[in-house]
Amino acid sequence: IENFVEEKEHIFRSQYSPVPVPDNVTLPEFVLQNVELYGDKVAFVDAESGKCVTYSEVERDIHRFSKALRSLGLRKGNVVIVVLPNIVEYAIVALGIMDSGGVFSGANPTLHASEIKKQAESADAKLIVTNSVTHEKVKNLGLPIIVLGDELIEDAMNWNKLLEAADRAGDDSMKEQIHQNDLCAMPFSSGTTGLSKGVMLTHRNLVANLCSTLFGVAQEMIGQVTTLGLIPFFHIYGITGICCATIRNKGKVVVMGRFDLKTFLNALITHEVTFAPIVPPIILGLVKNPIVDEFDLTKLKLQAIMTAAAPLAPEILTSFEHKFPGVLVQEAYGLTEHSCITLTHAQKGYGNTHKNSVGFILPNLEVKFIDPDTGRSLPRNTPGELCVRSQCVMQGYYKQVDETAQTIDNNGWLHTGDVGFIDDEENVFIVDRIKELIKYKGFQVAPAELEAILLSHSSVEDAAVVPLPNEEAGEIPAASVVLSIGAKESEQDIMNYVASNAAHYKKVRVVHFVEAIPKSPSGKIMRRLIKEKMVEKMKEN
Ligand code: AMP
Repeated sequence: IENFVEEKEHIFRSQYSPVPVPDNVTLPEFVLQNVELYGDKVAFVDAESGKCVTYSEVERDIHRFSKALRSLGLRKGNVVIVVLPNIVEYAIVALGIMDSGGVFSGANPTLHASEIKKQAESADAKLIVTNSVTHEKVKNLGLPIIVLGDELIEDAMNWNKLLEAADRAGDDSMKEQIHQNDLCAMPFSSGTTGLSKGVMLTHRNLVANLCSTLFGVAQEMIGQVTTLGLIPFFHIYGITGICCATIRNKGKVVVMGRFDLKTFLNALITHEVTFAPIVPPIILGLVKNPIVDEFDLTKLKLQAIMTAAAPLAPEILTSFEHKFPGVLVQEAYGLTEHSCITLTHAQKGYGNTHKNSVGFILPNLEVKFIDPDTGRSLPRNTPGELCVRSQCVMQGYYKQVDETAQTIDNNGWLHTGDVGFIDDEENVFIVDRIKELIKYKGFQVAPAELEAILLSHSSVEDAAVVPLPNEEAGEIPAASVVLSIGAKESEQDIMNYVASNAAHYKKVRVVHFVEAIPKSPSGKIMRRLIKEKMVEKMKEN
């Protein structure tokens, strides 16, 4: 009967043949395959300082770090929080943790100490890896700390010394057997509702995602691609889509730890970057900022950019194509809960994808679009909630059984909270988002977290946070606030309060005082209505 029901459903599969996913290899083993052929090749180079690590160093140090972690007592399934900007050693740290059987959980280094603490607590973390700059934020978490760099810091272990000690230690008999279905990563995402949660991803999830993502890379591209490493490596797109994909294909990553347009353009030219995964706000800068005219763009070796994380406005895409002729724009769509990329545009030689779509379905994936009210799947060209089923779907949210059940249904479909449709030529379009999530310059901002901060203010009676459209950032967090009787605070006071309690990118940038927050009979904040009212008010002003 189940098969019969499935047949009646509108399920869409990739137009490309399935690709094999190897069994019995962990993610580090999978990406390091054939590394011995590329020993002297630079794998990661810092865009500004020129510091680099070669493939033989990457392989050696992943194993040294993995051994060091085991000798410290790290066991299979233990979570390690990594609080680092993009640096040339980042992938070594992450893959070393995974190789030891540990679970890598990247944290945004710009988070406040209290926010990192929340992540460490909800992941039951056993260890922190950081550098001397962010050490201050993690030193009071009560966890052992490893610090990268030459500086020796009291009460923390030094990374170099730890690796040297691992060299001196005897054989590696502590190594536990790691299976593909063991967890290897726990990035954080707020999903469709509520606070940020630990997304449980296995070696299998990430190996499968890489197999699907890299299916179209021609043999002659192996070892030839130079990719810009600007997307944060703590995000699944950075660690899988950039670091792991590059190591797998033996390319080079030009690592950028901070963004400004001049450094960015210098990096593209100096390091002869051929592939740049970026986000829409950077494309906007490339199109509109006069700084770009100071550069001789004919020196660029750029062949393609990939844009993901948020929608790209069609007019910005057109302007980009005029300014950078010959550079292929590949749009992609993905989410942490699906191990990274899910839909993408064709690579060169794979035909054209419709320009304003987010691309086609990757091999091995099944996709459907459902009516959010009835749950019924919809035919082509009819917008509905995008659901995906594949080996890349997360195992669930760590210790969040209810949230997991709301996101992955009994038939294994991951409900993304995004609205889209597929056309007759297999192009998928994303047209709306029904989940609460706000995306500021591609960064996740969970309204529930900001609402909790607002409600902790003694003069705030009630609050709701919604996204407002913004040309530069894509979306900005905006708050509708009910002040308690007699409160004297201004809108700016409320914004300052949030800013002092959350990382910069989560700042509430608009505050409206209201009499009451509209709620449904079941007490749910009516976010869409609030957003519409705020947009209207903004237009009036
Ligand atoms: P994250 O888990 O941080 O990668 O965020 C995933 C969410 O970002 C998705 O569920 C979408 O809401 C949004 N997103 C990602 N890529 C795109 C895209 N190309 N167009 C529109 N929204 C996107």
